[in-house]
Order: sequence, then C-alpha cells, then structure tokens
Amino acid sequence: MKLFDVYPLYNVEPVNAYNCIVVDKDGTEYLDMYGGHAVISIGHSHPHYIKKIKEQIEKIGFYSNAVQNSIQTKLAEKLGQLSGYSNYQLFLCNSGAEANENALKLASFFTGKSRIVAFHNGFHGRTSAAVAATDNSKINSPLNSQQSVSFLPLNQIELVKTELEKGDVCAVIIEPIQGVGGLDEGTTDFFKALEILCKKHNVVLILDEVQSGYGRSGKFFAHQYHGITPDIISVAKGMGNGFPIGGILIAPHIPALHGMLGTTFGGNHLACAAALSVLEVIETENLMDNARITGEYFISQASTIPGVQKVKGRGLMLGLEFDFEVSELRKKMIYEKHVFTGGAMNKKLLRILPPLTIRKKEIDQFINALQGALVEIPII
Ligand code: PLP
Repeated sequence: MKLFDVYPLYNVEPVNAYNCIVVDKDGTEYLDMYGGHAVISIGHSHPHYIKKIKEQIEKIGFYSNAVQNSIQTKLAEKLGQLSGYSNYQLFLCNSGAEANENALKLASFFTGKSRIVAFHNGFHGRTSAAVAATDNSKINSPLNSQQSVSFLPLNQIELVKTELEKGDVCAVIIEPIQGVGGLDEGTTDFFKALEILCKKHNVVLILDEVQSGYGRSGKFFAHQYHGITPDIISVAKGMGNGFPIGGILIAPHIPALHGMLGTTFGGNHLACAAALSVLEVIETENLMDNARITGEYFISQASTIPGVQKVKGRGLMLGLEFDFEVSELRKKMIYEKHVFTGGAMNKKLLRILPPLTIRKKEIDQFINALQGALVEIPII
C-alpha cells in the first residue's frame, strides 16, 4: 500500500533528535527553528520527558475513560496552576482540531444556538470552523453542516456586533496570534470589546491557543497579554511535546453533563504522563521566561538583517516578512544551511517556531545562516 499523497515532502528523513537539533539518516545535524510546527515545547527527547513516559508505559499505557485515572487529575491540577486557570475544568482529547470541535459543540449545547463566528486568515484545524487557510477552499470547507460559520475581518468590532445581534451565534473562535494565517493579532481593545459583546449576547468566547499556548508567546497563554478571560481555551501541539494530546479548558459557569462529550483515546495514561512531564519542565526550566527573553533577542537581531521587511509575533512564535516568496529560501536553509523553518499562508513569511529551550547562541547560529542564505540566493 502506498501513502495517500497529501503532503509535499522535503527530501530529509530525521531519525534522531535532541533539544533543538534534528539528525537525519546520514548523520547530518539540523537546527530546528520550526519545532515540528510549534509542537516541540521542551526540546526533543528531553531526559525528564523520556523518563516519565518510560516509567508510565511499564505500568499502564491506556485504559478506558469509564474508570478513574489519577494522572488526568494531576495533569489538570498542574495545568490550572501554571496557566492561572485553576478554577476551570479540563476535557482531554488528542489533537488541536478535536479540541476545537469539542469547544464548538460545547458552545452549541450550552447556548442552544449553532452559528459560529471566526476570522479571516484564522486557522482552527480541519474542523467546523475551518477557514480558507490554503488557496484551495474545497480543502477547508466546513465539515459539519449543523454549524455554519461566518468569517469576519480581524479588529472590526462593529461587524462582530452586527453578527452577534442576530441572536443565532453560539461561539466566537479566535487565535490570539494567528499561526498558519501569518502572525496577525487582534488589538487589546478588540479582544476586550469582543469579551464584553460575547457576554452580552450569551456567546461562548473560544480562544484557540493550540499553537500560541503552553508558554510559546512568553506567557502561558497569548491572550493573557490582553487581560481577557475566555469561556473556553483550546490546547494541543506543545502540550505533549510530540505525544498526541489536546484539550479544552472550560470556565466554571459551563456545566458538564454525563455523555455530553466523549473520546476513546483522550486522556489516556501515557499521554497524560507525557503532558505532565512537559508542564514540570516548563516550570523548572523557566521556559516561559526563556521564550520571552530569547524572543526579544531574536527580534532585535533579525530586525537588522538586510531584506527583512518586518518581524512579526511574540515570544518564540515569530515570522520574518520578505518582499519575495520564501519557498526557495526555505529549501536553501534546509539543504545547504541545515536549518528547519516554517512557511505560512502569506508566502512571503518565514515562520520561526523553535523549541522553548532555545538559547541566544542558537539564535545567533540561525541569524548567520539566514544572512548567508540571503546573500547567496538569486531572488534579491
Ligand atoms: N488550531 C491552530 C491555531 C492550529 O495552528 C492548528 C494546527 O496547525 C490547529 C488548530 C489544528 O491542530 P491539529 O493539527 O493538531 O488538529
């Protein structure tokens, strides 16, 4: 059987990785400025992470959600403590798309309404709130016919008001910093007004922190820069450092009912042990501070590179905007400079999403490699 060919592939096969380094099958080392698409939070193969996963798999890896599982409780406690949302409730699943699907379903159950408001260039996974995050709208058309989605421009609060006043919207879903869409953000005024409007019209405010959460922005959640309190927060990616796990944090005023949500694999012992060890490392190694400080250093260094038009983002969720499409530059960075970077819907944006353990010396290494590539590349 051959693989269903939906991913264009780079001709590199990683077989090994440690901290910010990925090693291919020929033994070549690559600097990972991409983190497997913002997934690697505590660095590849972190010793504490490996130890905890090994200890857990030797005991029990999985049993059903119909029995008690104290690792889930420990994970919820630690997540509440580090994120500042101790009074919220945690529902566990396996990915970002699944987290958002559950968030949207819950919003619909809670409000008795079904329409969703999302934003242009937003990306919430292949879900009901899927947005035209690629040029091919067929790929991302809404999957769930029960929940229609209205897409609005970011930062235009009057347009949101008009939609919410119609009375049929159950949820507004928004990323605090757009990932795939290209690192645009709502302003603090916009987020604050959005929070007020949602409360007024009994609409659930969902902050999609799948990419921006878990310390990547320099705070546990990127929306915490705006002083707002969402009703639901979705998480995945950095939560498991590569182990598939996702979840939603649900405000105390949204009550749970038995059977309302459910999953076979979500919250299994092994995933919870992995996710718990990630939080322990984020705390003991002060990775939120590191994300903020090294992110600021990155911005200061990258802003001086000739050819860089703009540096976007916060913490270690960053992008460099050029006045040309970056696909050739990315290839050169991988094949010749041995550095992984990311792309975006905006084809002129080079995305930078390294492990949160990255230090200044690796940033310097990246800056040197990029400067070299820009000098050699024929486009500019
Ligand atoms: N939400 C955001 C903001 C994302 O960036 C992504 C993936 O890139 C998703 C949701 C979907 O996550 P997953 O691929 O785990 O389903």
